[in-house]
Amino acid sequence: MTLPRTCLAMVHVAPRKLEPRELPLPAIDADTALLRVEACGICGSDAEQYQGVLPVRFPVVPGHEPVGVIEAVGERAAARWGVQIGDRVAVEVLIPCGYCPACRAGRYPQCRGRGGGGLFGHGYVPLERPPGLWGAYAEYMYLDPGSIVHKVRKDLPASTVALFNPLGAGFRWAVEIPRTAPGDTVLVLGPGQRGLASVIAARAAGADTIIVTGTTRDAAKLALARELGADHTIDVEQDDLRKRVKELTNGHGADVVVEVAAAATAPVAEALHLAAPGGRVVLAGVKGFKPVPDFLSDLIVVKELTVMGAFGVTSPSYRAAIRLIEAERVPVARMHTHDFPLEDAERAIRTLAGEEPGAASIHSCLLPGG
Ligand SMILES: [Zn+2]
Ligand SMILES: [Zn+2]
Repeated sequence: MTLPRTCLAMVHVAPRKLEPRELPLPAIDADTALLRVEACGICGSDAEQYQGVLPVRFPVVPGHEPVGVIEAVGERAAARWGVQIGDRVAVEVLIPCGYCPACRAGRYPQCRGRGGGGLFGHGYVPLERPPGLWGAYAEYMYLDPGSIVHKVRKDLPASTVALFNPLGAGFRWAVEIPRTAPGDTVLVLGPGQRGLASVIAARAAGADTIIVTGTTRDAAKLALARELGADHTIDVEQDDLRKRVKELTNGHGADVVVEVAAAATAPVAEALHLAAPGGRVVLAGVKGFKPVPDFLSDLIVVKELTVMGAFGVTSPSYRAAIRLIEAERVPVARMHTHDFPLEDAERAIRTLAGEEPGAASIHSCLLPGG
């Protein structure tokens, strides 16, 4: 197949402004590859990037959750990744340098090697840095020597495979970081795509009781949480949250609390009340750098809680997510609600952010292939 010389990309030029552009396809050398993007998942970070909350330099091609097919690949890249032309791969967000102390210790979400003070990853590198097509809001995306790819089955819908990203987060935030083990009670604060993914991952890890919280508006998401493995759901606007968690955990509290609520700070303060003595609290929902009122640090002291931050996902959790998707034992595709053509990227983001009337999105994808 001969490749086109240019492709369509949606370029983020200013807060709340994406524009379609034809960009040249990059030349591929021995260490790089070209991905034909089949699907790009969209998450809360896309909404923050669109709104201008994330400090990303314009112009930039966003899109950090790509699934696609290798259309060109250099000899050394093919050997390193174990892929060939025609293979479908899921691509990790981060492009770690591989050499800094964080990378050498296997903690590459903390790598600032190539990004200086900021993130270096697909969807975040500005257009001016050659070869430009760093993000997946485009028909084709460049794969850097430092990109991390995972081969995936080709016979599943691309939008289902794109769930590797939220599910990977579920495995890292709800299992890997808090070391969730069989018998643990896991409380998930927030029923969005990351919360639902945390339910699936905690269930796969053998958690005993899984509880998910949300608001009255979240009724459909809470019902889906039960379908995906939650034992109990709590509507925090209707129920007394602390009392209900106490009842459901025999007065003990939750061994693991995963905080993935979007924007709201109250669940962070509440998490300390809901954790069992000796419990692990994982904070993974960013709050726009707002302070948290009523945060009682004494609860961390007297209950000997471990409070952990979770930012991004690493390969072991991505692999667990991909295995779970490929096994087809859990109806993960129930989380997927919307597909949009590439040109509709703005509408896709607004739908995810709840700005489009009547459209309740959980997981959405852009499908550049049409
Ligand atoms: Zn994302
Ligand atoms: Zn590094």
